[in-house]
Amino acid sequence: MIKLTGITKSFGRNQVLQGIDLQVEKGEVVVILGPSGSGKTTLLRCINYLERPNAGRIAIGDFEVDCERAGKKDIHALRGKSAMVFQHYNLFKHKTVLENVMEGLVIVQRMPKETARRRSVEVLEKVGLGEKLDAYPSQLSGGQQQRVGIARALALGPEVILFDEPTSALDPELVGEVLAVIRRIAKEGITMIVVTHEMGFARDVANHVVFMDGGAIVEEGAPKDIFNKPQEERTKQFLKRIM
Ligand code: ATP
Repeated sequence: MIKLTGITKSFGRNQVLQGIDLQVEKGEVVVILGPSGSGKTTLLRCINYLERPNAGRIAIGDFEVDCERAGKKDIHALRGKSAMVFQHYNLFKHKTVLENVMEGLVIVQRMPKETARRRSVEVLEKVGLGEKLDAYPSQLSGGQQQRVGIARALALGPEVILFDEPTSALDPELVGEVLAVIRRIAKEGITMIVVTHEMGFARDVANHVVFMDGGAIVEEGAPKDIFNKPQEERTKQFLKRIM
């Protein structure tokens, strides 16, 4: 289970997260929707501690940190509980597909190289890239590169995978293959928080939908409730614009 309590984050005088409370059960897929600038990416980055929240508590599994007091060790331990899939893949360009996936296992998790290699091959096969182990990112399509990004996150065996608009940098014809991989992983019961504008995906795959605006959660609930009978005016306006 993941529990966020009172997460706030400011950049200078711009308060981007206004005190976010969110609970995600094990195996759940939560989709976060909201207009540009509403704080969705910042929230994901706070969960992974790529951004340090100003205040609040983050609990993942049995590990909890108080963001105002967290020391280096706490942050390191918390980072190990989640893995991020980025909009622009963030692969190492000078490393092969296999090396990209092995990197975190060997360097961060200190896994023996042979074990890391076996695990990496296994997850790359799972995302349909078993034939591309020795390719470099520049030799792959955007969809394939993002599947490497997903394999890299999956290999780490995190408690939760955080997807930050995983298909928004892709040409439209490549979106489907990436969403298909995410759907397949979701079915295996891996906990996910997904920021996306793909409404079809949100309807089909999410157990829970969260609508954010102005750094706060305006409304949340089951996809059928949020999409079919939103209660808040801001949610209604947003959905009208994008659907
Ligand atoms: P989008 O859908 O456009 O990606 P978002 O909902 O993910 O938007 P964020 O990227 O979290 O929104 O940004 C929220 C606000 O925080 C914006 O006003 C943005 O300019 C600001 N912000 C984000 N990162 C930083 C940063 N590193 N430094 C300063 N301001 C930032």
